[in-house]
Amino acid sequence: MDRKRAGSRYIYRFGHAQAEGDGSMGEELGGKGASLAEMTRLGLPVPAGFTISTRACRFYLEQGAMPPSLEEELESALGWLELEQAQRLGGERDPLLLSVRSGASISMPGMMDTILNVGINDTNIDGLAVKQNVTFALDSYRRLLQMFGSVVLQIPKHAFDQASEGVSRDGEEASLRQTILSFQQLIEHRSGKPFPMDPRAQLRQAVVAVFESWNNDRARHYRRIHRTPENGGTAVTVQAMVFGNYGVNSGTGVGFTRNPSTGEKAMFAEFLANAQGEDIVAGIRTPMPIAELERTMPRVYRKLRTVTSRLEAHYRDVQDFEFTVQNGELFLLQTRAAKRSALAKLRSAVEMAEEGLISRTEALLRVTPSDLEEVLSPQLDFGNVELQPIAKGLPASPGSAVGQVALTADRAVELAGKHKQSPIILVRQETNADDIHGMDAAVGFLTAHGGATSHAAVVARGMGKCCITGAGGIVTDEVAGEVRIGEHTLKEGDWLSLDGSTGRVFPGQLTLRPSESFDNPFLTKLLYWARACSLTAVWANADTPQDAERASHASAMGIGLCRTEHMFFAKDRLAHIRSMILASSPAARERALASLLPVQQADFEELFRTMPGLPVTIRLIDPPLHEFLPTEVAAREELAQARLQGTDVENIQRLEELLLRVQQLSESNPMMGLRGCRLGIVHPEIIVMQVRAILRAALRVKAEGILALPEIMVPLVACVEEVRFLRKLIDATAANLFAEEDLFGQEGRRIGYRVGVMIEVPRAAACADEIAREVDFMSFGTNDLTQLTFGFSRDDAHKYLDTYLELGILKHNPFVTIDREGVGSLIRSAVRKAREANPDIKIGICGEHGGDPASIAFFAELGVDYVSCSPARLPMAQLSAAHTSIARAPVKSQQEKVPHGLRLVEGASLSHDLPSQIPSVFRSSSPSAGPTSLA
Ligand code: ADP
Ligand code: MG
Ligand code: MG
Repeated sequence: MDRKRAGSRYIYRFGHAQAEGDGSMGEELGGKGASLAEMTRLGLPVPAGFTISTRACRFYLEQGAMPPSLEEELESALGWLELEQAQRLGGERDPLLLSVRSGASISMPGMMDTILNVGINDTNIDGLAVKQNVTFALDSYRRLLQMFGSVVLQIPKHAFDQASEGVSRDGEEASLRQTILSFQQLIEHRSGKPFPMDPRAQLRQAVVAVFESWNNDRARHYRRIHRTPENGGTAVTVQAMVFGNYGVNSGTGVGFTRNPSTGEKAMFAEFLANAQGEDIVAGIRTPMPIAELERTMPRVYRKLRTVTSRLEAHYRDVQDFEFTVQNGELFLLQTRAAKRSALAKLRSAVEMAEEGLISRTEALLRVTPSDLEEVLSPQLDFGNVELQPIAKGLPASPGSAVGQVALTADRAVELAGKHKQSPIILVRQETNADDIHGMDAAVGFLTAHGGATSHAAVVARGMGKCCITGAGGIVTDEVAGEVRIGEHTLKEGDWLSLDGSTGRVFPGQLTLRPSESFDNPFLTKLLYWARACSLTAVWANADTPQDAERASHASAMGIGLCRTEHMFFAKDRLAHIRSMILASSPAARERALASLLPVQQADFEELFRTMPGLPVTIRLIDPPLHEFLPTEVAAREELAQARLQGTDVENIQRLEELLLRVQQLSESNPMMGLRGCRLGIVHPEIIVMQVRAILRAALRVKAEGILALPEIMVPLVACVEEVRFLRKLIDATAANLFAEEDLFGQEGRRIGYRVGVMIEVPRAAACADEIAREVDFMSFGTNDLTQLTFGFSRDDAHKYLDTYLELGILKHNPFVTIDREGVGSLIRSAVRKAREANPDIKIGICGEHGGDPASIAFFAELGVDYVSCSPARLPMAQLSAAHTSIARAPVKSQQEKVPHGLRLVEGASLSHDLPSQIPSVFRSSSPSAGPTSLA
């Protein structure tokens, strides 16, 4: 057949192992038409037919008429099909019957329409009966009238149901005849015209109706939510019918080559005997599991298995197929890449790579970071009921949580119990650093205020917990121990369920469906491949040894940010840090610091032990000191209380001092106040203590035979002089320490360490070259950098960000996805300048953006060495980093043919060969290389 005519033609034929189109022509032939052509070429049993291209549909939708040359092409194609089938459309005996099927280039399952059995009329119905029997013929006619009536003439389906209800049940044949009559009457009554008896008129009207179904409400809606273009149009496939309604040896089925919800490699299909078309999907009759087919028609079953495995091998992807059995003979009617759950995507991608069906690169590209997110978060189980949420807020951290309400952090700890045996949901107007212990005890947080980057949200994502913020209509009363949520009043201890993926709050104790955990073997394998092919390393932010444990378990390649002050918030330390702040004399301050040192040192030792041989970046103290003290109101109240009771003079004095100190430290804009490196310059003794604690910890674990790689990071620098000042202080402290005698029993022991800065003030980004000359590494703190570049306060910005996003003033929340134009260009030029000034410098990203796929792609483009994210985001970040590396790496093979049915990640190229930079461990397909061999 001549393919050269392509371009001017509208119709492509397929039949008897030959086809004019093929699987690559989805744009022209629609997914369905292309798959039928491809299956025909493969020699699979497919009824012959032809496909009218999407171009004809576009022409029709634009001009309101069929293309002039289509009529002639259609006639000639029909003539060809009649010859192929040795039947005639409208023939008196054994007439040719057709299905008229819709099919766009993107799969929109069930959105458009299909009409079966086109070609039956009052005169050839008896001739059709000869083919099998009378009931079959009448049943087919009834179906045609109903489909034609509803699709072409737009008569509502329920009108047909009503019409068939009135039919008497005396014998199958008689009642079918009556149904046909009443359908014909219904059609004439509703459309003002009788059902067309001319088969060509039926066909033409059916084709037009399918074209027009492109614009039906369902299809439009589908395209809106899936953001697919409006102007593609649908192809129309006209195909010889095969009949699943011949009797018990016939039937129709649908299936998947692998389980679409679990991904397990086992054909998953359903079959309905003596049925046609959509009977299965319509759910009127319960289909039988495919095992039944194996029993009743073993030969057909075996053939189905062979054919569908071939399809999967050919398309190199899980297939969703439709088939019909006509008197024991199998026909394939459709195949396409199967839509499947995130879990199934993960498992099938990994298993297909291991089977050698696809490359590991392809396996990686077939799973998206949001798939992993879905796989990893536990979900509420609604069963079959529709539940009404009692409140709705921002889905700030995904996952779900079911627990008992606690209104304060202390109550949360108390209610949770010593071993956190009871799940607690912490409900607050908003959270702050004081609530950390309660947040640690809780399984989820619900706040009345705050946005997706509020304290509660950031902490939740860090902890991998579910969180809903900004849920209006929530009023907590901590004294009464009650919270009002809309019209409901809950007491502490009452049950509440949160759906963090949608922001919905439900009363009561819903059950949780556990997700596959981090230990899912397919996830482990995929992420191992991901790390092996990433040019950008993924580190983790870890504030506590527990965080570090999780990071190490998820194979973080280092710790990019340890916020030391988070260690202070624990109850046993807060007292020390407070007495340090409140110290009235240098000596008292020294004493307080001396008591903090061993506590910090012990924490650092733990961090180093969990990350042997990997860099651990410890940030020196950052927040304004008042964060460690009570608020002025609280301090005032406590003092008033004490005075009222009035006896303990010493206590009153202490509280007076506390209040005074709180007032002294109060700043009108603390986020831009005495914090970060400024704090260390004003109070160098704090830095000295921290540096000593870090290096002593490193030396101690070294003595245990563990290699510690401490990286000391100075936060919030703005100018190079600050850096010089603090670097000198750090180096001097280290030198002093190393010179100390009898440090862990040995004299003059040393350990390597690096000093770096956090770039989070725009001025520092602008002066990155000068700063780079003074340090070993720099890490962009993109949260603060975004805050300070925009001048948006991270804690309050949601109040106007929502409006900005609605109005399109901002395309996305810059605290979630890096703002490429502004903040991003600052980072870009800073990276360039820094590398020029100091070629050895190591550059990373810490901050929430390090866990965001779109941002990771950007950072990787800039050539940073690593991104660091919270441990819970590691899998997503590792996969994103791999995707970006695959897309950026030059591929070896020039000729890239995209396998059919495979949708590529945007901007990614694909090849069977691996990008040349990818380490050789990844090239060998030896499955024996376990995940640990990388470290
Ligand atoms: P959809 O896009 O809604 O799946 P289809 O065009 O695939 O619509 O048609 C729906 C069903 O109609 C098919 O699954 C098949 O059972 C039946 N069908 C379509 N064409 C034929 C045919 N040529 N012979 C027999 N049944 C057919
Ligand atoms: Mg179909
Ligand atoms: Mg910061």
